[in-house]
Amino acid sequence: MPDAPALPIGTLRLPARVHVGYGARAQLPGIVARHGRRVLAVVDPFLVGTPVLAEVVDQLTAAGLDVRVHADITPELPVDTLTAAAEVAREHGADVVLAIGGGSALDAAKVVALLSRYDGPLSRYYGENLVPGPVLPIVAVPTTAGTGSEVTPVAVVSDPERELKVGVSSPFLVPVAAVVDPELTLGAPASVTAFSGIDALVHAVESYTARPLATDWSAPQPVFTGRNVLTEPIALQAAGHLGPWLPVAVREPGNRRARHEVALGALLGGIAFGSTGTHLCHALQYPIGALTKTPHGLGTGLVLPYVLDLLRQDAEVAGRIAALGAALEGIAPEDASAERTLDRVVAINAEIGVPADLAAIGLDRDQLPHVADLALRSARLLAIAPVDPTRDLLLDLLERAHAGTLTDRSAT
Ligand code: NAD
Repeated sequence: MPDAPALPIGTLRLPARVHVGYGARAQLPGIVARHGRRVLAVVDPFLVGTPVLAEVVDQLTAAGLDVRVHADITPELPVDTLTAAAEVAREHGADVVLAIGGGSALDAAKVVALLSRYDGPLSRYYGENLVPGPVLPIVAVPTTAGTGSEVTPVAVVSDPERELKVGVSSPFLVPVAAVVDPELTLGAPASVTAFSGIDALVHAVESYTARPLATDWSAPQPVFTGRNVLTEPIALQAAGHLGPWLPVAVREPGNRRARHEVALGALLGGIAFGSTGTHLCHALQYPIGALTKTPHGLGTGLVLPYVLDLLRQDAEVAGRIAALGAALEGIAPEDASAERTLDRVVAINAEIGVPADLAAIGLDRDQLPHVADLALRSARLLAIAPVDPTRDLLLDLLERAHAGTLTDRSAT
């Protein structure tokens, strides 16, 4: 008898509770109280002095919780600031961490929850699966729609001893609850909406095109497993919410429907990539972001068309890119193609203000070999890229991204 085709397998890691919708933050007192009484609220600085923060703190206090607010979040999350924040949590005797803010604040809260329970330095936990056990429970409330950090097992920080930002990845960092209330994103400026939103689309694309890793169920599982049967439909759904609505949210910041759709798309993108991982755009963004000091999503979004352009040369991956495009535009599969998806992504970037090439963000052409070398260090990410990312291949991609040239779509 011929071998049966391999049947699909799946992995999904999630908070025990995920809420999304306008007003969802009203659930917070009940959720937080289920996990502890002494709360360290790790809060994005933009929230200090706002009615939203006062409302949340008042409601938690009225529920009998002892809340200490820590809003000293430094951009890029230097490690020493996080160590200091963990000291605050220990002093307060925190037994639960409430994170409210953009991806930076949420990642800061993950590190605080880790260092409140386990001794530093944080560098002991860089990499995958090195967190020894459960951290303080984290309840995560995003105020940007993009990173998906509210549902993912990773925190990204900067360490002055390292050239690139570095990640701590562990299922123990998945928050116990994610509360996504689009109302909190209504005031986000256009650039924050655009760059965090395009990062969410990159999560959907990279999750859906990731190479599936071989699974040995008798061994401990890697944090990021590559594409699988549970993440595929979620990644497509994420693209379906983001495609039509991200440009609207950037253009019309007060459009409640658009903010809801983008928040939902970002959440779904986070759920998908939180299990699969991401690949080429993220591996390239780490050095590009470090050298140009540009926001994370600007970098991942900028390189996305060039990565799609490369990946569509592979027939199997081209089919996946076409499926993403069908979801993105809400069109029938027979009308979709990888080329059309690429055109749509280029148009979305232009509509929302993502620069078209690396020269535009101040990267010199002679820096490209260094970028390629640094990107190659992200072995975990590159392992799930759907093509073998050689140095020459990355350099060629970077040259195109620098010059702003895509290959001729009519030629394929
Ligand atoms: P961010 O958290 O860095 O916030 C950007 C700016 O927007 C900050 O000044 C912040 O104060 C402000 N801001 C946030 N919400 C606002 C709102 N509603 N109104 C007004 N201002 C607001 O940006 P981000 O894109 O959310 O997060 C980027 C960070 O997340 C990067 O450090 C990146 O490495 C990390 N990241 C983490 C994950 C993960 O899974 N852990 C995934 C992707 C990215």
